[in-house]
Amino acid sequence: MRVAVLSDIHSNLEALTAVLAHADAGGIVNAVWTAGDIVGYGPQPSEVLALLDGRNAVSVAGNHDLAACGLSDTDNFNYLAARAVAWTSTAISSDERALLAALPQVRIEHGVTLVHGSLREPDREYLFEPEDTRAHFALQTTQLSIVGHTHVQCWFEETAPGAIRMGLAMDGETLDLGNNRLILNPGSVGQPRDGDKRAGYAIYDSEAATFTWYRVPYDIASVQEKMSAVDLPVELIDRLARGR
Ligand code: ZN
Repeated sequence: MRVAVLSDIHSNLEALTAVLAHADAGGIVNAVWTAGDIVGYGPQPSEVLALLDGRNAVSVAGNHDLAACGLSDTDNFNYLAARAVAWTSTAISSDERALLAALPQVRIEHGVTLVHGSLREPDREYLFEPEDTRAHFALQTTQLSIVGHTHVQCWFEETAPGAIRMGLAMDGETLDLGNNRLILNPGSVGQPRDGDKRAGYAIYDSEAATFTWYRVPYDIASVQEKMSAVDLPVELIDRLARGR
């Protein structure tokens, strides 16, 4: 099975379209999985939800998804993120709100755990460093888990009980999955934050037992124009071009 693994799309239709086209060009895509934050920040939540639905994508809820559909508040969001969530909640239909509200926070697909932040705090905790992952690994019942939330393409490997190493992934880098327990982050489709403005995603090949990260250029100016048109904060518009 060849799976397109996406996270933190953040209502960025151009970036989503670009990564799906890239994934399709590389071979048959048997499934699309997302690790949450489908909406928030960007200008096209409805179109992104429809495209994912059309691909039968399987998703978990991220903190922006939960806030946009009213299941959580934005008390721990920064001012800009909260403004974008408030706009999103008015832009989506009641059906789309229900769709977001129905997303589980954790799910296991074909033996792989999907969660947005961490298994300890799915809608909140960031896994940036090996030390951050201990509680998550303690709760992980599958060999592989996929997370998002940090918007950084990386992996964590438990090389021995209590011993965790990590790596930041490069464009085109393939990790042989082996037998150790792993946490895999495909990075962010719609709002990369590692200084590379290109959309990030990954391909999981279950037969080959590999996970490959990619970066894909997309039409950033078009997204920025759409964000301006609906009056989203200028700081959020500018950061797309910087990959921050
Ligand atoms: Zn996010």
